[in-house]
Amino acid sequence: MRFDLLIKGGEVVDPGAGYQGRMDVAVRRNRIAAVEPQIPAQAGFRVVDATGLYVTPGLIDMHAHVYEGVTYWGISPDAVGSHTGVTSWIDAGSAGALTLSGLRSYIISRAQTKIHAFINISYIGLVGQDYELANPEYCNVELLERVVNRNRDVIVGIKVRGGRSGGAKDLEPFKRARRAADDLELPIMVHISTAPPDLDTVLSFLKRGDIVTHIYTGQSMRLIDENGKIRDTVKKAREAGLIMDLGHGAGSFSFESAEALAGQSFWPDVISTDLHWLTIFGANLVDPLKGSAFGDLSASADARSIAVQVKGDGKPVFNMLTCMDKMLYLGMSFRDVIRATTNRPAEILGLKNEVGTLKPGSRADISAFSIDRGNFELRDHHGNARHGKEMVRHVMTILDGRPWERVEIPSPPPWIRLVDQGGG
Ligand SMILES: [Zn+2]
Repeated sequence: MRFDLLIKGGEVVDPGAGYQGRMDVAVRRNRIAAVEPQIPAQAGFRVVDATGLYVTPGLIDMHAHVYEGVTYWGISPDAVGSHTGVTSWIDAGSAGALTLSGLRSYIISRAQTKIHAFINISYIGLVGQDYELANPEYCNVELLERVVNRNRDVIVGIKVRGGRSGGAKDLEPFKRARRAADDLELPIMVHISTAPPDLDTVLSFLKRGDIVTHIYTGQSMRLIDENGKIRDTVKKAREAGLIMDLGHGAGSFSFESAEALAGQSFWPDVISTDLHWLTIFGANLVDPLKGSAFGDLSASADARSIAVQVKGDGKPVFNMLTCMDKMLYLGMSFRDVIRATTNRPAEILGLKNEVGTLKPGSRADISAFSIDRGNFELRDHHGNARHGKEMVRHVMTILDGRPWERVEIPSPPPWIRLVDQGGG
């Protein structure tokens, strides 16, 4: 029996299925049919040579914003995915109860990539840059539960932010998210950055299976204390089964925090980007209006129209691949990096045998990468530089059993102002 597609000669890395080493991957229709050390080329109607490449399951980005055209943040999931090997996206709270059906109709059902969503506790979701919690009435638990129960196939959890979401000093959104999560038996994803509420208060609302995103933040809710030691409450939270998510974002990656945590063997369960329009063009986002790293956005109308630096040809310079580079620099192995971008998020979200693995029977979403060796500059949000020895390059993606052409990245929306690299 022949296969529709055969990927030959690659180094397979699939921690979920336990594959590691030179293997061939066979696809029939849109499913993985076989993974074996040697499958003859004649067995495939189409053969792709993957010699010298790492072949992995299609990547899962557990925290991104893909409600394109409707929200301040939303980027194109297919365009970005096709350049980076991400075949499954989890939108982290762009839609609330009032806007979820639009996410479903206009984005999820039209995209080539697979998309699931955390629904925002606020029924307006992240339409604007922030203030989704400005009015407590936006957190309507009954409505949220009705919407979730009609969309169980796409909703994987509930998202709540503190900080600059407009209702931060009030714990009501967290209480309501807790109630909804318990009723619906879904996890909460909570965003940490600037207090109030403080980290311990937020952690006190969370239970086993809930997700803390932005774990490498250098802001006031960081996971380390003044001496760089992991806070006791954070250790306890992890022991209690909380999931730790990278969520790189526009202001949530500090080398100081990351190195302190990595030095104490505290690694993210999941590597995610928190990709959105402000992050896509530069990981090293500097606000030229203030001359500092991505600062307090609430100060003035001017400061809010953040200018984004563009490197080189204007192609995105920040994405899942640069997150992987940073994790390799911090000392995570490539295999663990792949685990944290495939099997682990799939397991956490209940998508385990469907995506995030090359196990026969699962969806034929496959990515292939090479790793360049050299000296590569990496930067955090505070402008600090480090040099990594490895840089992950995306080479190709198979999506639903077919080679996936790259989709052009659209121009940014008018509220994203692009400036030259040096300037303001
Ligand atoms: Zn986010």
